[in-house]
Amino acid sequence: MGLIVQKYGGSSVANTERILNVAGRVADAYKEGHSVVVVVSAQGDTTDDLIVKANEINPNASRREMDMLLSTGEQISVALLSMAVERLGCPVISLTGYQAGIMSDSNYGNARIKNIDTERIFRELDRKNIVVVAGFQGWNRFDDITTLGRGGSDTTAVALAAALKADLCEIYTDVDGVFTADPRIVKNAGKLDDISYDEMLELASLGANVLHNRSIEMAKKYNVNLVVRSSLNKSPGTIVKEVGNVEKILVRGVARDNNIARVAVIGVEDKPGIAFRLFSLLAKEKISVDLIIQSIGRDTTKDISFTVAKGDLTRTLEVINRNIGLIGAKDVNYSDKYSKVSIVGAGMVNNPGVAAMMFEALYDADINIHMITTSEIKISVLVDIQDAERAVAAVHDKFNLGEIGSR
Ligand code: ASP
Ligand code: MG
Repeated sequence: MGLIVQKYGGSSVANTERILNVAGRVADAYKEGHSVVVVVSAQGDTTDDLIVKANEINPNASRREMDMLLSTGEQISVALLSMAVERLGCPVISLTGYQAGIMSDSNYGNARIKNIDTERIFRELDRKNIVVVAGFQGWNRFDDITTLGRGGSDTTAVALAAALKADLCEIYTDVDGVFTADPRIVKNAGKLDDISYDEMLELASLGANVLHNRSIEMAKKYNVNLVVRSSLNKSPGTIVKEVGNVEKILVRGVARDNNIARVAVIGVEDKPGIAFRLFSLLAKEKISVDLIIQSIGRDTTKDISFTVAKGDLTRTLEVINRNIGLIGAKDVNYSDKYSKVSIVGAGMVNNPGVAAMMFEALYDADINIHMITTSEIKISVLVDIQDAERAVAAVHDKFNLGEIGSR
């Protein structure tokens, strides 16, 4: 019998019926003899709705007040879930982030957990309580409530699992686990039985949308046993762990990310130091750059193109335009009509030819590649946004990913 941290996302607690369903699962784990800590997100679209409401009142509301507001969604969930568990006759107590000892920094809206004082949670577990903790929130040294960034309840769960030295951290969602591609795009996408932290990290940051990035980083750092599974059935889900089946499988999954914009800085001088100047200006503004291409110099100038997240586009253009003299560019343009399609797999390190296979799949599908980037376990290409779904399907097919997953 061990200590289990279970996290239920917004869709798993979206309405009364779903809350009762979750309560049943929580009670089952408790009756099996486990110590159970549960983390919940806000119900359904609550967080989005609260943001809309705030914007109606003041689109420039301070981030402190936004956190005060957004943290209420999770507070509703912990209370309702606890009431549902009470109804099943199990001892239970709900805790806010503050009560659970989750201390964060003061970066309102995107705070990082700094420390967890586990005393209260352990005390409640010793009293044989099921402990239900509000996800996505912490408190800072000014005694203010903070939130951990959208999707942050995953991070709450993994951080608690690490701090409590839990035997297992189960992330419950409305899909059966991690898939080889988005099942809405690729019909024969299969569920993966396991995946490595690094692969999962790549897939998450590529828009696979299963786990909060930071939660995976943390799981890797503290070696948390993590499993992603459905709250709606008994399917065993996907285990996220240190190493997967590295030798056998080249490519684990294909992901698509439409949240990107391409910026081209045209006619910069072809001399040392230009790229340094450009990208250090962006780094100073905390803008992350992803794919980069520098054209071969013609005459005395060259072009540098790169991608940023759509949300960073306006700031990126501002920074460049403000410094256009310093960078020595003639012009800058942008487009947000692209999508990034990526394959991920720890097995590609030792296997040349994976990139060629991906490009062949795209060629056969008559899809033009605008930019390419590679890392040890990932290859990403930039394609026209209207080609993206076809590209995902073509690549998925090429690597026979329909066969590696289970269904
Ligand atoms: N409720 C928050 C959000 O929607 C946190 C979470 O769901 O993990 O982003
Ligand atoms: Mg959510």
